[in-house]
Amino acid sequence: MFSYRHAFHAGNHADVLKHTVLLAVLRHLLQKDTALTVFDTHAGAGLYRLDGEYAATSGEAGQGFLRLVSALNEPVAPASQTPTAIKKVVKQKTTTETLAPALKDYLDLVASFNNKGSHKVYPGSPFIIQRLLGERDKLKVFEIHPTDAKTLSANIAQLEAGRQVAVLREDGFEGIKKFLPPPARRALVLSDPSYEIKTDYSRVVAMVADALTRFATGTYVVWYPIIPRPEAHDVPRKLKTLATKAGKPWLNATLTVKSSKLTSDEEGEIIRPGLPASGMFVINPPHTLKATLQLALPQLVELLGQDQHAAFTVDSGG
Ligand code: SAM
Repeated sequence: MFSYRHAFHAGNHADVLKHTVLLAVLRHLLQKDTALTVFDTHAGAGLYRLDGEYAATSGEAGQGFLRLVSALNEPVAPASQTPTAIKKVVKQKTTTETLAPALKDYLDLVASFNNKGSHKVYPGSPFIIQRLLGERDKLKVFEIHPTDAKTLSANIAQLEAGRQVAVLREDGFEGIKKFLPPPARRALVLSDPSYEIKTDYSRVVAMVADALTRFATGTYVVWYPIIPRPEAHDVPRKLKTLATKAGKPWLNATLTVKSSKLTSDEEGEIIRPGLPASGMFVINPPHTLKATLQLALPQLVELLGQDQHAAFTVDSGG
């Protein structure tokens, strides 16, 4: 049985990167006047409480979404307290007035799920996507965990436009196959596995390889953790090879908030750093995405960076 529950991680720095990129991609794709089908192969429960038991246990949103919100409202710290690596990236403290448009869009979208000034509800990818869709667009989401699938179905059922969303309680890696190519020939596939099982690393790459043979013009977005294990490093490398072989453009954006090194406390107990970094790999990205992220990511380094290892990258090719 799967033990991963996204409720512990909702709103962490990986979600900030993931949902900012997802939103920027969707905004661009939805500008066209033809129907779009969006697939979310690993959907989660859809809505999360940041003031609930799960979020309180992990405190992860405090290093992600909540940190972003409070850092924007903090007075400017003395230059001596700003890590040198971060000073190199950002010349002046970012404020709500100077925030990159993609980050403003992300914060406004999360705010729209909350009462004014409150930050209790955090929307997961199915709700972020659904909020943006037009009447003709469709969303198909996969969730395998019985409890989260049930919660997701119940959350979606509350929506007026709930019928444009199909919740499938099945394996997203396999389930996506029967829908590609989509009838309207325009689709975005988000794949955000938990990587709880080691085979997720190879399965996500195999899923994209198969999907490209069925529907080469789709936009594919894959989230991956950047951790010291070879399978994790293989994900962007293999996706890049796939895109290049298929002759398709790609973009790889990463955000590091802290060092991945193990440290120890005063008693010599090893302290694991938690997730230090993650990436979003996009095949067939909007042509505007690179410039959008080059404005947003330095600000995320500034606002979410925890030590001198904080950094971002945006690479592209094809
Ligand atoms: N995409 C969500 C978001 O951004 O809000 C978070 C998803 S979470 C990282 C991964 C989810 O995938 C978990 O809820 C887990 O139960 C589910 N899952 C794991 N393996 C799966 C599979 N093979 N197919 C579908 N869902 C799966």
